[in-house]
Amino acid sequence: MRVAVVGAGLAGLTAASRLDPDHEVVVLERNESVGGRLGTTRIGDATFDAGAQFFTVRNDALREQTQDWLDRGIAFEWCRGFGDADGYPRYAGTDGMSTLATDLAADLDVRTDSMVFTLDRLEEGWTVVLDDASRIDVDALVLTSPVAQSWALLAQSDVALPDDLARREYHRIIAGLVTLDRPSHVPDPGGVQLDPAHPTAPLGFVADNHRKGISTVPAVTLHATWAWSTEHWDLPDDEIAERLLDAASDWSDPAAVVDTTIRRWRFAAPSDPWPDACWVDDEHRLVLAGDLFAGPKVEGAFDSGIAAAHAVRSL
Ligand SMILES: Cc1cc2nc3c(=O)[nH]c(=O)nc-3n(C[C@H](O)[C@H](O)[C@H](O)COP(=O)(O)OP(=O)(O)OC[C@H]3O[C@@H](n4cnc5c(N)ncnc54)[C@H](O)[C@@H]3O)c2cc1C
Repeated sequence: MRVAVVGAGLAGLTAASRLDPDHEVVVLERNESVGGRLGTTRIGDATFDAGAQFFTVRNDALREQTQDWLDRGIAFEWCRGFGDADGYPRYAGTDGMSTLATDLAADLDVRTDSMVFTLDRLEEGWTVVLDDASRIDVDALVLTSPVAQSWALLAQSDVALPDDLARREYHRIIAGLVTLDRPSHVPDPGGVQLDPAHPTAPLGFVADNHRKGISTVPAVTLHATWAWSTEHWDLPDDEIAERLLDAASDWSDPAAVVDTTIRRWRFAAPSDPWPDACWVDDEHRLVLAGDLFAGPKVEGAFDSGIAAAHAVRSL
């Protein structure tokens, strides 16, 4: 089979890497690099994990994959909890979380800067139309974009998603990426997880990417809580930066700030995950996957990718 996977986040790359080698698989990614919400970002000399900060492991498939990443130096154990450590390992990508995605993509046909624009049904299979109007005919499709976007891509076909799937919502997260000219005061291991009701809200998580080991210069990621992000979404960047820096003054001295870049994650985390690990339309050879389906985390995206590969095999 010829299979197109839309999205080179963890779910799409996991699905593509687990498909039988005799399938002809292409992964289409609209961004210039792979990883999606494993969004490692470079600004000047600083490196930030702007999206996912770490991942946990609860099942055998991800445990096996993680052991392989650890053995090859692709991932490392960052810590066993923040503040009152709970003893469970938190892993991260060696050069940032997107290292995991780059590793999975290495043996795949991944086309970045390739935004899927629309999906047309063929008698058997699909034509994928990209934003440069090029077309790719395939026998089966795996969509890992946020479900509202997948629904829009399918709008011109005669395939309809169930209403309660298409309408699933996502939380938003605003991230402040702060470069400093001196070390931050973020305590070991380089991360602070905050209770949303904590007096320092708006912040949910503060990470020191230098102490974590992925940035050569002091670089702090500030993640606002879902509620604060939604409420302040439309504020100009400089106002958001001012408020986040104010809330983070215990960990980053305002006088040390060299640059603050604001990043908005519109589809940060599904608010109401779908009960199955992927959604399958056998008749039209269509599979939907991503963290909406197996839990709003790296683990969920990975599990959903595995489930999607399994579903394609049984189409
Ligand atoms: C700020 C933030 C912090 C987080 N922190 C953590 C954490 O600490 N631990 C944890 O486990 N999880 C965390 N998560 C969640 C974790 O990042 C996600 O669950 C996981 O990365 C989702 O992977 P995915 O493949 O399902 O989706 P994505 O990574 O979103 O991948 C979807 C891909 O599809 C691409 N795409 C979309 N539309 C198109 C199109 N039309 N054509 C081509 N490509 C398209 C996108 O560009 C994207 O690359 C965090 C997420 C965010 C945003």
